[in-house]
Amino acid sequence: MKIVSAEIFSANIVLSERHNTKTGWRPIILRLMTDEGITGIGEVGLAYGAAHHGGVGALRDFVEGFVIGTDPFERETIFDALTRHTFWGGACGPVVNGAMSAIDIACWDIMGKALNMPVWKLLGGKINDNLRTYASQTQFGWNDGMDPCGSVEQYAAAAQRAVDEGYDAIKVDPVMIDEELGIQSPLSLKGALTREIVDRTVARMTAIRSAIGPDIDLILELHSLTSLTGGQRLVEALADLDLFMVEEAVNYNNAIPAKRLKERMPGTRMTGGERIFTRWQFREYLEDGSFDMIQPDFCLVGGITEGKKVCDMAHIHEVTVQGHVCGTPISTAAALHVEASIPNFEIHEHHIYSTLAGNRNICQQDLQPVKGRFAVPDAPGLGLDLDETFLRAHSNVITLS
Ligand code: MG
Repeated sequence: MKIVSAEIFSANIVLSERHNTKTGWRPIILRLMTDEGITGIGEVGLAYGAAHHGGVGALRDFVEGFVIGTDPFERETIFDALTRHTFWGGACGPVVNGAMSAIDIACWDIMGKALNMPVWKLLGGKINDNLRTYASQTQFGWNDGMDPCGSVEQYAAAAQRAVDEGYDAIKVDPVMIDEELGIQSPLSLKGALTREIVDRTVARMTAIRSAIGPDIDLILELHSLTSLTGGQRLVEALADLDLFMVEEAVNYNNAIPAKRLKERMPGTRMTGGERIFTRWQFREYLEDGSFDMIQPDFCLVGGITEGKKVCDMAHIHEVTVQGHVCGTPISTAAALHVEASIPNFEIHEHHIYSTLAGNRNICQQDLQPVKGRFAVPDAPGLGLDLDETFLRAHSNVITLS
C-alpha cells in the first residue's frame, strides 16, 4: 500500500456566537489517500492559540516531501525520516511535532480500516472501557456557549451543571478570568500574587466545592499563568479543598520549576504535559518525579505511536495518563484509543470546546460521554468520518499529490 495524495483542511469555524477570542477556532485536518482507495484522517493539535499557519505549512512540507509515496504501515520509517531528514523535526515543538502527529494518526486510521480493526485493537486491546471522564474548563460556563464566569455564584453553578450531567470530576481555571477585565493578563499572575488574587481564587474554589460536595474530584487548572512562588501560594491556600490534581502550575519551557514545585509540595498531585513533546522531552519530567499524571496531547506529542511510547515510559515511573484533548473529534478519538489500551490510564478530558456545535459538526459521529463515562469507538480505524459538506464550507483545502 502506498500513500498517493493528501488534502489539508485549513479550517476557520465559529464554535458559538458567544465564543470570542483573538485566535478563534482553526483546526488543521489531514486526509491521506492510498493507492488502494483507503483514506485516513489526522489532526495537528493547534486549533486554539496562534500557530495555525505554522502548522499548515509544516504539514504541507512534511507530507509533500516525505510522506507521499510511502507505505502507511511503516510509521517508524516515516517518523524517522521526519525526525532526521527535515532538520527541524529533530528538535521538539508544537509545529513540527503537531504535523508529525497528524501524519501518524492518519496512518493508524488507514491501518485500522485496511485490517478492519479499531485502533485500540491494534494497540494491544481494550484494557479499559467506559472511560472515566471529567468536564474540562468549567470557568467558561459549561453550557451551550462560552460564557466566562465572574462571580463565585457563576463558578459554582457551572460546576454544578457538569455534575448534574453525571460527571464525578471537573476541572476549572479560577485565575484566568477577571470579573471586570475579562481574560486576565498573564503578567498580573506572575510572582507571589496579590492578596486580592489569592482571596478571589480561594472564594471561587470554595464556592465550587460547597456546591458539588466532597465526593466530586476537583482539578485545579493554572495554564502556566502562575510562576513557582504564586503557584505554590495558591495551592497552599486551597489545601482544605482536597484537590484531585494541580495542572500546569508553573512554566514548562524547562523541567526545573516543575521539579522544585513538587519537591516543595510533595503531598499535592501535579500534572501537565500538553506543551511537552516526544519521549525526549517527557523523559526529564518523569525522571525528576515532577508529575503524578501526564497529559500528552496525541495531536502534538508526535502522534499515537510516539504518545504510546511516552505513556509506557510514564508507566515505569508509576505515573498515570490523561490524554490532553482540545481539538476536533479526531483529537478525542486519538486519545480514547490510546487510553483504552494502556494500563496506566487515569481519566479522560472532555473539553468545553468538544461540547460546542461548531466542533461537533466536523465529523459524522458525535463523540460525547454519557454520565461522565466515554465509550471507545469500535469501528475500524479511528471510527470517524468527516462531514465533508460542513468541513469544506469552513476550510481552505490544500491538495497535495
Ligand atoms: Mg490544560
